[in-house]
Amino acid sequence: MKMQINGKAVEACGGEFFGVKNPATGELLETVPLGTEEDVAAAVEAASSAFAGWASVSPQQRGGVLYRAAEIVRQRKEELAALLTQEQGKPLAEARNEIKGFAHVLEYYCGLAGSLRGDFIPVPGNGYAFTVKNPLGVCAAIIPWNMPALIMGWKIAPALISGNTFVLKPASNTSLTNLTLASIFEEAGLPAGVLNVVTGPGETAGESLVRSPEVRKISFTGEARTGKRVAELAARGMKRVTLELGGSDPMLVCDDADLESAAVGALRGRFYNCGQTCTAVKRLYVFESIAEEFIKKLETGVRSLRIGNGLDKNTSIGPLNNQQQWEYIKELVAEMEEKEAGRIITGGKVPAFKGSDKGYFFEPTLVSDVPGDSRLLKEEVFGPLLPVVTVKDLDEAIEEANRTSYGLGASIWTKDLDRARTGCEQLNAGIIWVNQHMKIAPEVPFGGVKESGFGRENGPDALSEYMETKTIILKT
Ligand code: NAD
Repeated sequence: MKMQINGKAVEACGGEFFGVKNPATGELLETVPLGTEEDVAAAVEAASSAFAGWASVSPQQRGGVLYRAAEIVRQRKEELAALLTQEQGKPLAEARNEIKGFAHVLEYYCGLAGSLRGDFIPVPGNGYAFTVKNPLGVCAAIIPWNMPALIMGWKIAPALISGNTFVLKPASNTSLTNLTLASIFEEAGLPAGVLNVVTGPGETAGESLVRSPEVRKISFTGEARTGKRVAELAARGMKRVTLELGGSDPMLVCDDADLESAAVGALRGRFYNCGQTCTAVKRLYVFESIAEEFIKKLETGVRSLRIGNGLDKNTSIGPLNNQQQWEYIKELVAEMEEKEAGRIITGGKVPAFKGSDKGYFFEPTLVSDVPGDSRLLKEEVFGPLLPVVTVKDLDEAIEEANRTSYGLGASIWTKDLDRARTGCEQLNAGIIWVNQHMKIAPEVPFGGVKESGFGRENGPDALSEYMETKTIILKT
């Protein structure tokens, strides 16, 4: 598959390729160009040349293009979902949801097209003022492999509707879905150069994009460490930045919670996408009085998960996306066992089923008796490990939950309104859920605090991330 620059499918200037593999089978799916600094420059040049034309198109017409793209995505949902499963590993049902989610984001921002406007502000004694909202120019995004379609939508939809042009750098492991989605925009009538995709490694293609003087804004999703590097480079060019970084979301289960639905929420929250979701339940704090009963429910649920190739309709949990993640999870479990720093209730091994030796599979794993200094609680564990910690009351649960450098999401499970309110007020995160976890929608602002980054995606807030306010003061 080729890159997309100025409406054309192109090879990399250096003529080199890399392979995208299926994490369930190890098979090579496709090769993709290894984008160079010159390719990034060509993509930025194309976006820059297309900017004046696209910015002068009415928001309603821009919305029309996005709407047509969403229609095509919905028509091609099955093919796109299968591609996503093959390169990312997630079960087909999850891939389908993600593709529908991508279309939904486009539709949501089409609906906001008519609402792009500034303000009228009376200035006592000095006439009045207007504000005008202008697009920034060339915007860029660098995205990860865990939700490549959805995250692409979160970035391009508000940027394009508000009149910017765009360069996207996908994660290498999941470039195929992003390239295919981008080609759909051309079919939907997006002018050449408005959306460009350069594939390649972060250290070369990604950094060239951040350094490019023409790029006015970088929206980055990925690890906190990479985000800091991106922010540092962007600061040199005084560029706007949105950072959607990692998380270590806590889930608090009080003694009055509906344990049945909390167990379902924890299983879905932790093992969806094989645990590779930024807002996954990564630490579970349960009141000690109900811990035994709750852990039993979790154990039954974990044992019922079916691990396998995401294309198999019986699979509820696929492989990890890549070898690095797989090795990391194996290392954490081995270290925990060696130090006797946790008790595996179920899981904890590389599974053995026909063909499992070809993929990055790891059993969904439930762990208790984890000490406070465990890596399972301190690091962002991107994989199918759920550590359960017992606490005596809500105060202790909140104190432990906040003991992290991250602050993306958190949930509290209780029927008591006072406890729910206390959790909402005192948990330090960008998103708090009550009696659910990980539910997100394009209508709702999304983003973190502390090392989970800054800026917001989704909702109307995301539009202001891609527009500049110009103030005009008239003396009358
Ligand atoms: P990563 O930081 O390794 O890579 C993300 C992207 O950055 C990739 O496209 C990569 O090629 C690129 N990159 C790497 N080094 C770069 C550099 N020096 N300069 C510019 N670009 C560079 O992250 P990952 O492993 O792909 O994704 C997993 C991480 O993403 C987790 O931490 C997860 O929590 C986070 N994430 C956050 C959100 C959110 O919205 N907060 C959503 C999904 C994933």
